[in-house]
Amino acid sequence: MAEIKKLETAKLMKKVMADHFYEIDAAVKSGNPKVAWCTSVGPAELLRAMGFVVYFPENHAAILGASRAANDCIPAANAIGYSPEICSYLTSDVGAYLKGFTPLSKIYDGIESIPKPDVLVYNTNQCRDVKDWFEWYAREWKVPCLGIESFVNVGDVTKDHVDSIAAQMRKLAVDITAATGNKMDEDLLKETVRLSRQCSDLWKDVLEIATNKPSPLTFFDGTIHMGPAVCMRGTQVAVDYYEILLKELRGWVDKGVAAVAGERHRIYWEGMPVWGKLRENAKLFLGLETCLVASTYCNSWIFTALDPDDPWNSMARAYTELFIVRDDDYKEDYYRRMLDLFDFDGIIFHDAKTCPANSNCRYGLPQRFSKETGIPFITIDGDLNDLRCYSEEQAITKIEAFIEQLDG
Ligand code: SF4
Repeated sequence: MAEIKKLETAKLMKKVMADHFYEIDAAVKSGNPKVAWCTSVGPAELLRAMGFVVYFPENHAAILGASRAANDCIPAANAIGYSPEICSYLTSDVGAYLKGFTPLSKIYDGIESIPKPDVLVYNTNQCRDVKDWFEWYAREWKVPCLGIESFVNVGDVTKDHVDSIAAQMRKLAVDITAATGNKMDEDLLKETVRLSRQCSDLWKDVLEIATNKPSPLTFFDGTIHMGPAVCMRGTQVAVDYYEILLKELRGWVDKGVAAVAGERHRIYWEGMPVWGKLRENAKLFLGLETCLVASTYCNSWIFTALDPDDPWNSMARAYTELFIVRDDDYKEDYYRRMLDLFDFDGIIFHDAKTCPANSNCRYGLPQRFSKETGIPFITIDGDLNDLRCYSEEQAITKIEAFIEQLDG
């Protein structure tokens, strides 16, 4: 059985992520700079330009999932009224807090807990759960919780959408100043948006390296290497990281190195990863000589609208143009563009039980896309963090049958 190929840059990723968590921990311990929590597709640029170090609880929740600690934690949140049916990032993260547990302590010496913030800032562009999640901590710690109420099911993003969100962002900055004393530095905002855009462009290049045949990158690699794009966009560190990663990947392309030896099939993964089964699933597809070449999930941190010369409007546009905010017509068209780009021969939809926002198989979209393009699909029942919702045996059987069908 072939082994999963490791990029050298993965070692640097460990260091970059460690630096990120130690920086936040030091800020909490010294009280300077102040700490803001932010949703993963929230206005991180705005917070950096106001002098905060920024922590992303969704990243922490993904670590809970990947380390398989989530299922020990979820019941603690269920016990205080947070349903097993709602976002298992929320329930595993809150549950971990209630149990006094964080995997960060195991990974990073000296970090004892998740960082207590000075302010919690959300954007509901992805779902309502993030707001509920942050509000729980706001009540627990008696810290301010502020945010942006976004649009949902957007077709074309219009000037009205952008104006509305930009106005909310400006008000948000004023409210954050009133709550914490931190002020907006407009020059720093431009610089942060510039760095964020650069990070986004590099991340896009990294993901699009999978257009090569064979691809040097899989969806599973993407879920690991997206850490800096989520947690450090708007900083030079993230830009430097993706320049190094891209160089290594281009080197692989030049040498014809395939992430999946003997790549026979190319698949698009639609939906969240099953964090607790990343390695098993990577091995499964490796054995099937099938590369998951692209995913909506990893693409979610590409923000091509960001423009340092127009930071407020471009942030508003970037955070409204996201796939997750859009209607099904847009999504279907998006898959078509991905098909042209990555030339995949099938789609796997992950129906994540606790994340309807990222489960796009519930309103006939796969069937419509498949009918139009002839691209076959399957749906896997599972979840991002709650492994009780994932039947591994059933998933493997479905995936193997799907690949056999593609074999013809
Ligand atoms: S998008 Fe899904 S996984 Fe992410 S916070 Fe919302 S419900 Fe949870």
